[in-house]
Amino acid sequence: MNEKATYIVMLGPPGAGKGTQAEILAQKLGLVHVSSGDLFRENLSNQTELGKLAQTYMRKGELVPDDVTIAMVKERLSRPDCAKGAVLDGFPRTPAQAEALNKILAEMNAKVDLVPLISVPNDVLVERLSGRWMSKSGRVYHALYNPPKVKWVDDIDGTPLYQREDDKPETVQRRIDVYYEQTAPLIDYYRQAGLLVEIDGTQEIEKVTEDILKAIK
Ligand code: ADP
Ligand code: AMP
Repeated sequence: MNEKATYIVMLGPPGAGKGTQAEILAQKLGLVHVSSGDLFRENLSNQTELGKLAQTYMRKGELVPDDVTIAMVKERLSRPDCAKGAVLDGFPRTPAQAEALNKILAEMNAKVDLVPLISVPNDVLVERLSGRWMSKSGRVYHALYNPPKVKWVDDIDGTPLYQREDDKPETVQRRIDVYYEQTAPLIDYYRQAGLLVEIDGTQEIEKVTEDILKAIK
């Protein structure tokens, strides 16, 4: 019989460190990192219809509608590499998405196992997002807190790093507001389900990972 699959949902405002931690956890636990933002950005760089639609929302810092977002993540989770489980980052972001995720996982005889909520105050979020450098393949750096070995160059594949269009200050503020308006209700939703663990995201990256791993065990 297959070992039980593990599904972890990273929760927290933009810039809290969800992507950074999801990547580390996925590696350490042998799971797949599924980032809805990365999936949209991949669609955008391939100029798919979904990518073009998503961009109209992303550039304003608004959420992409639930139906297309849910369909995209459902398709990703149905691929064989997710059979052992996944670390979800950026999804779910609304109560409707959380309900949809439960349904998708139930169809796979699985469920959400743990929801680390990474908390970071707003002023720190803004500082983190303004210094965030991304690689084309989704690796995340910070100009000061997690710099690449060579400025603006990805450590792993040597490709140039870039700043996200939606990391500019006006959009960052809107994204933080959208988080508190539309995503924060998930905190109580997962707390009531007994799945939430609160993690202090202001600590160093390694310490945040350590706290999440403790909660997993
Ligand atoms: P999210 O996925 O929640 O939007 P990211 O993982 O992309 O956040 O992190 C946002 C920025 O903050 C990145 O530049 C990342 O390198 C940096 N960062 C992440 N975790 C920490 C941390 N614990 N301390 C300092 N900087 C961090
Ligand atoms: P992220 O990379 O998680 O910061 O997401 C970047 C942008 O992609 C968001 O500001 C939204 O416009 C869009 N997005 C990502 N995930 C979702 C989601 N689960 N629901 C709706 N929109 C999303």
